[in-house]
Amino acid sequence: QAKNNGRNNYQFFTADMNARASERLSIEANMRDALSRGEFEVYFQPQVSLSHGKIIGAEALVRWNHPEQGLIPPGKFIPIAEESRMIVPLGNWVLRRSCELAAQWQRDGLPPITVAVNLSPLQLHQANLLELIQEALDIAGLDAKYLELEVTESVVMQEVEHVMTMLHGIKQLGVKLSLDDFGTGYSSLSYLKRFAFDKLKVDQSFVRDISSDPNDAAIVLAIIGLGKTLGMSVLAEGVETEAQLEFLCRGETDSIQGFLFSKPIQAEPFKKLLMEQKQLTLPDISVPSY
Ligand code: C2E
Ligand code: MG
Ligand code: MG
Ligand code: MG
Repeated sequence: QAKNNGRNNYQFFTADMNARASERLSIEANMRDALSRGEFEVYFQPQVSLSHGKIIGAEALVRWNHPEQGLIPPGKFIPIAEESRMIVPLGNWVLRRSCELAAQWQRDGLPPITVAVNLSPLQLHQANLLELIQEALDIAGLDAKYLELEVTESVVMQEVEHVMTMLHGIKQLGVKLSLDDFGTGYSSLSYLKRFAFDKLKVDQSFVRDISSDPNDAAIVLAIIGLGKTLGMSVLAEGVETEAQLEFLCRGETDSIQGFLFSKPIQAEPFKKLLMEQKQLTLPDISVPSY
């Protein structure tokens, strides 16, 4: 009986693995053509200042409009794109498209904002990355100071010397750098010592329970303090509730990004938000609690 169960489990396991492997292969095969067919689209999620509640930036987040499967979120294809190196052409496309739109919005008379583009580890290993960034800015006609590149701690894990050279090169172009998903990687603190990021993005896993879990609250306050002491601006990711917002305001977080203000949206509705100068209503904090 036990043996049978074991065998059944094994069969179930392999069937599941086969299904996943074939899904993976089909995604991988499809991705190559999807880029040339124009099936990828950049969505934008506003980043809002907690000093005045206005939009100061937007994170560019890629989506795949699949002809049969509908809208595929990046969690489903970015890991596969990284394994198959498709992330390099895809990431470069996101970079160009984001610069193009940001420059267009400025030409249309909208208040200038920073566009933040995620950079995968493989992109950082392209020998010509700096040229590609400069080219994206030139073609778009966007001033470098309006571009921010987000890297995660995993990027800084391997080939530290090469990565440091690249990061310094990016900074020299006048482009901003932010450390994404801060706190979830391995040796977060050592990068902060070695490289001066412009911004720290506190991972949403710490933000989720700040108003109920004293440990998360303490961690977030410590990250904010650390960021400020090191001269960085601090953004909290994944802000969904008024309670989280109030906590972050009291903690003097510089900016936030999250569903409370807006989900990632298409370029057109984002432009509309910017045009209407939609603002975040900030909580009235008269007595500081710490
Ligand atoms: P990320 O860079 O940390 O982006 C933030 C993610 O959090 C986005 O997920 C966003 O939709 C989600 N988010 C924002 N506010 C909230 C909130 O209030 N609550 C919750 N629950 N989630 C929120 P998304 O768009 O699914 O992207 C997932 C990840 O995929 C990104 O994480 C990033 O690592 C990667 N990604 C997306 N676009 C690109 C890209 O163009 N290039 C690369 N290399 N990676 C990308
Ligand atoms: Mg990001
Ligand atoms: Mg993040
Ligand atoms: Mg993330």
